[in-house]
Amino acid sequence: MQMPAPDAKVIARSGELAAALRGVLPAESVHDAEAARRAYQSDGLTAYSQLPLLVALPETTAQVADILKVCAVFGAKVVPRGAGTSLSGGALPLADGVLLGMAKFNRILEIDYENRCVVAQPGVTNLAVTQAVQGHGFCYAPDPSSQVACTLGGNVAENAGGVHCLKYGLTTNNLLGLELVLMSGEVLRLGGRHLDSAGYDLLGIITGSEGLLGVITEVTLRILPQPQTVRALLIGFATIEQAGDCVAGVIAAGIIPGGMELMDRPAIHAAEAFTGAGYPLDAAAILIVELDGPEVEAEHLANRVAEIARDLGATMVRASADESERLRFWAGRKAAFPAVGRISPDYYCMDGTIPRARLADVLGKIAEMSEHFGLRVANVFHAGDGNLHPLILYDANNPGELERAEEFGAEILRLCVAVGGVLTGEHGVGVEKRDLMGEMFDDIDLAHQQRLKCAFDPDGALNPGKVFPVLHRCAELGRVHVHRGRHLFPDLPRF
Ligand SMILES: Cc1cc2nc3c(=O)[nH]c(=O)nc-3n(C[C@H](O)[C@H](O)[C@H](O)COP(=O)(O)OP(=O)(O)OC[C@H]3O[C@@H](n4cnc5c(N)ncnc54)[C@H](O)[C@@H]3O)c2cc1C
Repeated sequence: MQMPAPDAKVIARSGELAAALRGVLPAESVHDAEAARRAYQSDGLTAYSQLPLLVALPETTAQVADILKVCAVFGAKVVPRGAGTSLSGGALPLADGVLLGMAKFNRILEIDYENRCVVAQPGVTNLAVTQAVQGHGFCYAPDPSSQVACTLGGNVAENAGGVHCLKYGLTTNNLLGLELVLMSGEVLRLGGRHLDSAGYDLLGIITGSEGLLGVITEVTLRILPQPQTVRALLIGFATIEQAGDCVAGVIAAGIIPGGMELMDRPAIHAAEAFTGAGYPLDAAAILIVELDGPEVEAEHLANRVAEIARDLGATMVRASADESERLRFWAGRKAAFPAVGRISPDYYCMDGTIPRARLADVLGKIAEMSEHFGLRVANVFHAGDGNLHPLILYDANNPGELERAEEFGAEILRLCVAVGGVLTGEHGVGVEKRDLMGEMFDDIDLAHQQRLKCAFDPDGALNPGKVFPVLHRCAELGRVHVHRGRHLFPDLPRF
């Protein structure tokens, strides 16, 4: 994986840049010492790391605007960062860039029950929103498994999802408004406390923009009443194909569960050993299906799902008898990633989405690839959304294994695209899937996406090296022509 070549001129002026940043921030909010910078060298994609040139920790929108203006003057790049849980390397720092840590933006500004929304700063954790409103019977629906740590800014930038997004939507469906600072220092306010706005859907463009268009400094989120009743079913199958067919069968029957998650045998065993959730160890796959709503409806739907599962040959169907059993069913799923971390020195978490009807087929092919690459895989994923998370198990200490795991992962993503799916479901493109963008988009698509980037950030200073496989300077975009190996702009860095 190659990043843009660092700009030696910017690195040479790091002392001056630090002094200029200390001119707009309290001195203790700018870090240039190596020990302090090291805390930011990586995100959830730990295979890659890089010390940032400097770290800036603002706490007001005006400070963010000032930092960006200073960086623009110095030609320094900027990488925004929330909690650093990105699994695609979106918050990976740059050797010639300022790491903009948003952790001090950690306040919920307003809870507006009348308009059913929460206004919060981007450094607030995802879980803190539900915790703040649950006493009044409300919740914030998107619930990534990392919700105890990940921040709202990171959630918007990655369009994060979670178990309950099948029924209640991803971040994009639960975001009403935001404040954004552009590289020029301009402050935009998009959306509001209502569901739609006039004009282009700029809120939609910013959601999932992976820190490439602007820095989010405030969000307004939709909150929902908590469902009256929640029932969960734990269903075991002798084959993974049956579990895949059950997912398709439930949706085809017109039922949209609150969540529908699939785990295969390696994941079941790892989670059971870690949490004792009560999973059947003889099953090749389990589904956890959650039904919610008024009691009669949740009961009726749970019975329908159980019927569908039995008709497809389920070896076990258990309905949660009470809330503590429901939480136990989920405990294994929620802790599945760390559980897999106990059975392998390293794992590589993939994220691709496929049409639900292809689940069984694609899982079969992943099993074949696992044989081919000689690396084990555990599957834990949002089956209802067709959002796969194969965890490729490897040992980075063995020479060549990381590269083999990456090639295996790339093959899985190519397969997702080939069956009509997409490269990412919720973890973003970042650096991880950057070089695979060409599998999904042709040059014209990519050029249009980059033109949009140029409209917000004409100098390409925000989070470069992420998402787009080829760096274009906005002025040359679409006009670069290589003739007989002679490049029109030989000075442009390409990676
Ligand atoms: C164990 C584990 C489980 C996970 N489970 C899920 C899951 O179920 N669903 C899911 O969707 N994801 C999941 N993730 C991935 C990750 O938690 C999400 O992508 C999350 O949204 C990242 O938030 P963060 O605050 O950590 O952002 P960071 O990792 O700090 O940054 C992510 C991206 O957002 C940008 N960014 C951050 N803050 C801002 C800002 N204020 N303005 C502009 N850009 C910004 C960064 O530049 C970067 O591109 C999981 C990760 C882990 C480690």
